[in-house]
Amino acid sequence: MSKKIAEVSKNCVACGSCVKECPLGAISIYKGMYADVDKEKCVGCGKCSTICPAGVITIKLREEEFINA
Ligand code: SF4
Ligand code: SF4
Repeated sequence: MSKKIAEVSKNCVACGSCVKECPLGAISIYKGMYADVDKEKCVGCGKCSTICPAGVITIKLREEEFINA
């Protein structure tokens, strides 16, 4: 399990750019409202964060329980 993970803020505009960018299919648009990160798949690479036009994705450290899982 990666030490980092993408986190999407509430200001996501559901444009879908991050979904196309993620090489692992770890991010999807939940009910057309906002981007949702799959904690199991995301490796925290930061590609989605780089291309998000709204700048609402940050890469953060996972909680300890996820790092050691
Ligand atoms: S690229 Fe940014 S604004 Fe667009 S869906 Fe993803 S997180 Fe939301
Ligand atoms: S950080 Fe990388 S793996 Fe995680 S959702 Fe973004 S593009 Fe996908």
